[in-house]
Amino acid sequence: MQYFIETYGCQMNVADSELVAGLLNGAGHQPTARIDEAGIILLNTCSVREKAEETVLNRLSQLAALKKRDPGTLIGVLGCTAKNLAESLLESMPFVDLVLGPDSYRRLPQIINERQTSNVHPVDTKLSRIELYEDLYPSRAASVNAWISIMRGCNKFCTFCVVPFTRGRERSRALAGIVEEARSAVGQGFQEITLLGQNVNSYRSGTDGFAQLLAAVAAVPGVRRLRFISPHPSDMGEDVLAVMAAHYNICKSIHLPLQAGADRVLRRMNRTYTKQEYLQLAARIREVLPGCTLSTDIIVGFPGETEAEFGETLEVMRQVQFDSAFTFKYSPRPGTKATEYHDPVNDAVKQARLDRLITLQKPISLRRNQQLIGSTVEVLIEKESKKSPQQWAGRTDSNKWVVFDKEWSQPGEFVNVHVDGSFGIALQGHLNSDLEALNAVA
Ligand code: SF4
Repeated sequence: MQYFIETYGCQMNVADSELVAGLLNGAGHQPTARIDEAGIILLNTCSVREKAEETVLNRLSQLAALKKRDPGTLIGVLGCTAKNLAESLLESMPFVDLVLGPDSYRRLPQIINERQTSNVHPVDTKLSRIELYEDLYPSRAASVNAWISIMRGCNKFCTFCVVPFTRGRERSRALAGIVEEARSAVGQGFQEITLLGQNVNSYRSGTDGFAQLLAAVAAVPGVRRLRFISPHPSDMGEDVLAVMAAHYNICKSIHLPLQAGADRVLRRMNRTYTKQEYLQLAARIREVLPGCTLSTDIIVGFPGETEAEFGETLEVMRQVQFDSAFTFKYSPRPGTKATEYHDPVNDAVKQARLDRLITLQKPISLRRNQQLIGSTVEVLIEKESKKSPQQWAGRTDSNKWVVFDKEWSQPGEFVNVHVDGSFGIALQGHLNSDLEALNAVA
């Protein structure tokens, strides 16, 4: 049968969809880019925010019409919403054929077979303490970047986060298997590897920690760029920074979720670091890795957040001068500790705080980009620019998007681009024809 997978949420889900595609290909199914041609439609879902869950439920309502037209089409819900809403999902949307949580994908080919000959709607959302899908190879989308999932689950239990409940306890793959997967990805033509984990730097397998793993993957011949997301500030040790400094191909760009700037809010969030510790870490990163870019996540309007505490978040943003920030209004997730806090911030205040945060960060991001105007940066070309079919978009080592006229260049090539300007969150430039393309360096 032909299958179509639609993916929502974080990069872990993107990697999981590639894993599921690998499983389905192995079972003799084929991918299609057209949903109306598919006999199997799978939504790989996200529950991390209320809005993400609503988006998935709306999408499922749309698929009801498709199912009515063609009752033979199998519709499945995978991922975090599947785990979070399994029973109520089938009650409210009885046309859904199967519901599988993040630790049950291995059973998918068998469940598809069974569903075709039975009236039972299979639901399997059990969490596993051991499932790592170590022996399965993903079917990767054509791109320059290969996602490699190195660990699953999370033990941190931030009080706003549903992940420990939808994805279970933390467990890490063996280092040798990850290195082997990196080697195989390079063999398939991928030049950039991104190591993925809900809490990527709490990786631990036997005596190997995240620093050892980074060093081992960076040493794989042909890995031109190595990235990782998302680290937790509390697990960002000196050993990781030293390995990053020692390997030219580990990208000098760190996403370091702050979430809030006031100690009382951080404590209530169970973030396990203080404002001071975070500021010291940011300063230390810039000391050990000069030029390293920093991005972050911020939640505004966490229960009980006062105006003064929100002001502390703004102050940290001013001090750190992040290159970019992903900003969100707090949304309560059922089952999480924060829903027991009975001092919510009303939505108008949340929205006003979000607006102020964005107004603060925008010129900071712009200024940091403007510092690159006039310089030449190395860009790995990824795709056509959304702005023009005559232009490519690619990223620098420091994770800045750069848009420039295509001329002779091709996706997958490393090129030197002279930066002429900055707009929004991206840089605008032109190919630097004085310098040779960097591909020969590999
Ligand atoms: S570290 Fe916190 S925010 Fe991140 S996945 Fe774990 S519980 Fe969620």
